Amino acid sequence: MTRQNNNSIIFNSLFQALPFGVYIVDVQSHQLLFANRHLSEMVGGNVREGGICYREIFNFESPCMHCRIKELRSDGEEQSGDHLTFEFFNEYNDRWYQFHELMVPWTDGRLVKCTFAVDISELKAAQNSLAEAHARLAIKNEELETLYARDVLTGAYNRVKLDEIMDKELGRYERYGRLFSIILMDIDDFKDINDTLGHLAGDRVLYEMSNLLTANTRATDLLCRWGGEEFLLVCPETDSSGVRPLAENLRQMVAGHEFECGSRITISLGAATVRPEDTQDSMIARADKAMYLSKSQGKNVCNFM
Ligand code: GH3
Ligand code: MG
Ligand code: MG
Repeated sequence: MTRQNNNSIIFNSLFQALPFGVYIVDVQSHQLLFANRHLSEMVGGNVREGGICYREIFNFESPCMHCRIKELRSDGEEQSGDHLTFEFFNEYNDRWYQFHELMVPWTDGRLVKCTFAVDISELKAAQNSLAEAHARLAIKNEELETLYARDVLTGAYNRVKLDEIMDKELGRYERYGRLFSIILMDIDDFKDINDTLGHLAGDRVLYEMSNLLTANTRATDLLCRWGGEEFLLVCPETDSSGVRPLAENLRQMVAGHEFECGSRITISLGAATVRPEDTQDSMIARADKAMYLSKSQGKNVCNFM
């Protein structure tokens, strides 16, 4: 037995034993020089060596869409060692493969393309279920954030979130001197609404009020439900000359709004701008005092302290 024959037997046994598809094609003529059993099974038939690769393997009349021979030879110089990797969905068996292709010199000196097709279907399925799990987790996180930070009835931020918001704004003021203001708003004679129209109608007014206030303030302003029929608006980057007209505009806007229940509804407001040495409590206490002054002045009024 000649040395060349011996080599070709070893080559054949090795490539047949590999646990993935292997085929070798002459890059000039597309002649199929070798295909192992695995490759043949992949395309569900008898692949004949000696034929044209796209006919034998893929049953096409012209080179395959995914053919990368040109790409491997794109620099015009045929060189051995060029290597490409790409993913390919095989419609014969509905499985995903990773194709590794490289140029190597054949035994007779011709340059050939050697393709290894590794089945990555399980990996793809795992990647897909991981991506789905990530998407589901993102939705759950959003739901959790809403539950954690929002008041269920009105959708405004709750007291827990307000704590965070105030801490952050006080921190920005201390560190960078960024002024901010707050407006405390209390619905006037809200008890009468409950008493005359019922608790559910009262709930509806609270919901409508929350949407109304959010829609009529800046996207950067943060509306919190402070208590039963009390809301607190935190206005970043707003000083006393900004918060006074804002509070007055909100007062007028609410007084002029036609609520679904048909009643005329007004609010009393108290505004405050951050001062040196302020804490959350001291700042809110000032807004509260201003709001109670508004109540004492006959309601539907706003004050600043
Ligand atoms: P004032 O003008 O002095 O603020 O009078 P008021 O009636 O608005 O204030 P008061 O504190 O006397 O009553 C507030 C009412 O708000 C009493 C309470 O039952 C009602 N309330 C608090 N939370 C809710 C809620 O979630 N839903 C409804 N429907 N009513 C609520
Ligand atoms: Mg109140
Ligand atoms: Mg009230």
